[in-house]
Amino acid sequence: MPGRPTAARFEGTLLRRGDRAYDSARAAAVWNGLKPERFPAAIVRAASERDVPQALSCARSEGLRVSTRSGGHNWSGSQLRDGSLLIDLSGLGQCDIDPASATATVGPAATGQDLVKALAPYGLAFPVGHCSSVALGGFLLSGGLGWNSRAWGPSCADVLEMRVVTADGATVTCSETENADLFWAARGAGPGFFAVVTRFRLGLHPHPGSVMTTGLTFPLAATGPVAAWAEGLARDLPANVETALVLTASGDPAVTVAPGPRILAGMTAFARTREEALAALAPAEACPLAGSAVSRQPPEPTSFARLHERAAAVWPPAHRYAADTLWSEETYETQLGRIADAVAHAPAGKSLVLAPVRPVSEDPALLRNMAFSPLGASYLVCYAVWDDPADDGANARWLRDAMASVDPSGRGGHYIAETDLEADASRARRSYAPADWDRLQELKAAWDPGNVFHSYLAP
Ligand SMILES: Cc1cc2nc3c(=O)[nH]c(=O)nc-3n(C[C@H](O)[C@H](O)[C@H](O)COP(=O)(O)OP(=O)(O)OC[C@H]3O[C@@H](n4cnc5c(N)ncnc54)[C@H](O)[C@@H]3O)c2cc1C
Repeated sequence: MPGRPTAARFEGTLLRRGDRAYDSARAAAVWNGLKPERFPAAIVRAASERDVPQALSCARSEGLRVSTRSGGHNWSGSQLRDGSLLIDLSGLGQCDIDPASATATVGPAATGQDLVKALAPYGLAFPVGHCSSVALGGFLLSGGLGWNSRAWGPSCADVLEMRVVTADGATVTCSETENADLFWAARGAGPGFFAVVTRFRLGLHPHPGSVMTTGLTFPLAATGPVAAWAEGLARDLPANVETALVLTASGDPAVTVAPGPRILAGMTAFARTREEALAALAPAEACPLAGSAVSRQPPEPTSFARLHERAAAVWPPAHRYAADTLWSEETYETQLGRIADAVAHAPAGKSLVLAPVRPVSEDPALLRNMAFSPLGASYLVCYAVWDDPADDGANARWLRDAMASVDPSGRGGHYIAETDLEADASRARRSYAPADWDRLQELKAAWDPGNVFHSYLAP
């Protein structure tokens, strides 16, 4: 078409629907093996930050709306929108560490694993996502429930500054003191953010000298008492111990050594010394239910890299996945008791429920000035995991039925990073406190008055 912007203006590549490399670029934009049937009109694979304003100007000149992807991990594939221009930032994965200031400058496609590796020589750490492959872009924009977030706060609390390309193509910095309203939104808006972040500056933590983990596995039938115990335990444990419950139908060997329908309680301490870690885990060792455990793992040293490896085995690429979240004012005992039956009858053996117990710091100082907030006293994520496309319908139904069983009033909250955006039109809204949702709408209207960016995916 005469006058259309051409690939020549980009340092990266511009692909149009119909081009030979388009199909593989579209498929690669979604990490999930389940690829949504949505087709961008064009994909710009950015090779530099400079490509981003170019892509926006290309979208404006062609009247295309814009979607963005960093690591492609959104479970609903919200980065793929029909007829849009997709800005693919997967080439922007730099990770530069400044040990003197204990800060890192990272590209949006840098993964948790990249950051852990880059930090290792300097004795520094960051609350990276639980799976190694999760990119920092969408993770930090959503808030970020990372390793040791119970002590360190949501990962976005450690974002000091972002470089952002806005709807009009301008490149701006946002921080607590510069464009503070945009900064507030960028710390939680997730897949509804109305600009493109091309780099983050992060504050870092001293590396915990000792990371230790322990766990007990019980029959799934013991879910109620185990959940009640773990909830009480998490209240008593220091903030630097992360407690997570995992419910599995098959006893996936990646989750537990004891096959069968199981509930696993895992505790991980991030401490200065081995002694401090062992002392922090001691209340877990005194579990009054230990006699009914089918297996028990005594405290053992681990590392961010090994924690990542273990999580990657539970959520490997290539499977088909659907996920949904729930924040609730109900107890873990009630919520997990409700969903255990669904887990036992999941159509796919790898499906599971993860319930991090009080997953994020409740310290107001670590939750200030961000769109993200925890929305309840208990939290869980339910994952359908399967392989055969013929089973798509059964697994999608199972997930929705399981979530309905655990939120019968339909009034629970959600976490925007992992919620099933297509389950109903209110999923995105109910991922925020009402005043925060209203403020996000106002800021979207102010920063993106022409609605250049796609907003939250809906059914
Ligand atoms: C295996 C797995 C494990 C996970 N573990 C965790 C976990 O431990 N804790 C947690 O909190 N979450 C977790 N998540 C959820 C994860 O944080 C989100 O899926 C997040 O969106 C992933 O980031 P991404 O860059 O891959 O997102 P993408 O899929 O690339 O993008 C999702 C959306 O975010 C927006 N976006 C992404 N990058 C940018 C950018 N640079 N500028 C503007 N908008 C952008 C776009 O709207 C896009 O549609 C996990 C997901 C998976 C698949």
